[in-house]
Amino acid sequence: MPQRVVVIGGGICGLATAHRLAREGMAVTLLEASDQLGGLGTFFTSRGRSVERFYHCVMPTDTALLALLDEVGLRESVGWNPTSMGMIVEGEHRSFNSALDLLRFRPLSLVNRIRFGVVSLLLRRLGKGKDLDGMRTEDWLRGLYGDRIWELLLAPLFGAKFGAAFGDVPALYVWQRLGRESNESVRGYPAGGYESVIDALRASIEAHGGEVRTSAPVGRLEAGEDRVLVTLSGGETIEADHAVSTVPLPALRAIADPDLVPLLPDVQLPYQGVVNTLFFLRKPLSGHYWAPVIRSGTDFDGVIEMTPLTGSERYGDRHLVYVMHYTDRESALYREDSESIAQRWTEQLLSLHKGLTPDDVDEVRVFKAPFVEPVYPLGYLTKRPAVEVPGTRLLLATTAHVYPDVTSWNSSVELSGSVTNTLLRAARSSSPQENAAWSADSAR
Ligand SMILES: Cc1cc2nc3c(=O)[nH]c(=O)nc-3n(C[C@H](O)[C@H](O)[C@H](O)COP(=O)(O)OP(=O)(O)OC[C@H]3O[C@@H](n4cnc5c(N)ncnc54)[C@H](O)[C@@H]3O)c2cc1C
Repeated sequence: MPQRVVVIGGGICGLATAHRLAREGMAVTLLEASDQLGGLGTFFTSRGRSVERFYHCVMPTDTALLALLDEVGLRESVGWNPTSMGMIVEGEHRSFNSALDLLRFRPLSLVNRIRFGVVSLLLRRLGKGKDLDGMRTEDWLRGLYGDRIWELLLAPLFGAKFGAAFGDVPALYVWQRLGRESNESVRGYPAGGYESVIDALRASIEAHGGEVRTSAPVGRLEAGEDRVLVTLSGGETIEADHAVSTVPLPALRAIADPDLVPLLPDVQLPYQGVVNTLFFLRKPLSGHYWAPVIRSGTDFDGVIEMTPLTGSERYGDRHLVYVMHYTDRESALYREDSESIAQRWTEQLLSLHKGLTPDDVDEVRVFKAPFVEPVYPLGYLTKRPAVEVPGTRLLLATTAHVYPDVTSWNSSVELSGSVTNTLLRAARSSSPQENAAWSADSAR
């Protein structure tokens, strides 16, 4: 009998893990709480086409994700396009891509423009060999760029992700992020949208005998040395040899049996959530994929225009724009009702883009997510939880585990690979018979 594994959570991490385990011959059941797979990469339908709730793109450096797409026959479906960056400071729109753009960037003095350019070019190299995990981002960047650049540009730019705590996040996070995006202007997007990737992974799991269940929230999790018991909120209990939880750590604590709680990682991480609004517009905005919005009287801190990357046809000849603000799930903004956010942010988008009129706005949607990314403490490399929960057959694969990598589909896929290997090793050592069968299989 193959070993039974329950994977909790149907985001990319759960899907990739279940896909790999099913291919290795495990009897996999994937349980997703919501009625749709995809987690933060999930979608909704507008004019018959699926659209991501939160902006998503692939980077050329996303090697683990691209390898997975290869496995399910979708690598060639990724279309690559050059993209550009804008910058909106105090309501003024600028292009922010070339040395000339920087030289023209009047919010900074000429000396600071040059300093910004030189330090940015050298930043990756300047971080090499330093204990950036133990160094506050503010201390590192203020030291290199100086007070003025930090206060005018960097604090609001990067702070948009982590709020007031940004200066305290380890500098390693910023350094790693620059590595992923490293002035990369080419971005990718799958022709069938992220839904096509989700569908292909589901099909692969099912083709290998696995089971995928949506609207199946786990309400209780018990894990011991010999087995795992996963109880759905509806009352059904599934017994398994192993479980992999991909749900954020606070949500895991909420479903863990009291005997399991003390065994879970003893790291109390605050998480940032996000409030994100989509606009389908009848005309393009700036043509920049990404433009941070700084001190411009908006609640949102960034504008992402998808159409330069994806074209407008897939949105019914409309232009798709996302604006967002990362925030704690307890904040007033996060708790505000979506209708009033939609109304206020529409007014703010219109006042930010003078050529845009209310008639140009065809459709507005607001989506929120409570757990996007942990706010990492200093020295997190040594505090980062292990994937194995000692004394149990439970493994963890969450966004708290990918640090110092940036949370992304790529880092979740990479993590799913290492968790799968760990589980397969544990399964083989706990089942000599299975081990023999596997050895025979691999010899064939
Ligand atoms: C605004 C925004 C923009 C982003 N842009 C990009 C981008 O451009 N490129 C990129 O690669 N990444 C991007 N990301 C990051 C990326 O989406 C995440 O890193 C990734 O999706 C995390 O996947 P995951 O499977 O670890 O977690 P999640 O996607 O959070 O999945 C966890 C799943 O667990 C389920 N769950 C929770 N509790 C239970 C329960 N009790 N029982 C069963 N199921 C449960 C949830 O419903 C969810 O489906 C972006 C994220 C956001 C929010």
